[in-house]
Amino acid sequence: MRSLPELKAECSRCVALCCMALPFDKGEDFALDKPALHPCPNLTDHHCTIHDSLRERGFPGCARYDCLGAGQRVVEEVFGDADWQHDASLRAPMGEAFAILRRVHAGLELLSVAERLSLPEPLSRERAELRALYHPQADWTLAMLRAFAAQDPDKRLQAFLKALRPHV
Ligand code: SF4
Repeated sequence: MRSLPELKAECSRCVALCCMALPFDKGEDFALDKPALHPCPNLTDHHCTIHDSLRERGFPGCARYDCLGAGQRVVEEVFGDADWQHDASLRAPMGEAFAILRRVHAGLELLSVAERLSLPEPLSRERAELRALYHPQADWTLAMLRAFAAQDPDKRLQAFLKALRPHV
């Protein structure tokens, strides 16, 4: 069985996807408005120019954000080390893949906890099926991620997690 991917952000292996793909609303968490798929004005050549003072500069939302390792995986696995900063046409597909793979990794984080439980057969089978959905044997492609999103398996995952309560 394929081992679970890293569920921890490695920004040095990413291309600042979160700083481009995500939208911000000016408020307590962000000091400015930013639409989705537009680079943050604080971003220069993959680096946040205010990284050491995010909270002081009005961006605590960035300090708290965690892609759970989806960023580096989109870059390396889905897009073969491509970089939206060299090709603006990649912004939309990389942003789309990032949003879906972040959901995948959030699901895998929950499933990784469930993996440690001893479960009766029906739940054990459902765990295996969900694992296969969230962590297929083949590398993710954008088409696979779209198919995953279309199935909306998060509802199925939530129902599974609810059924675990008597076993925790
Ligand atoms: S403030 Fe820095 S960390 Fe936040 S989105 Fe902009 S460049 Fe990225």
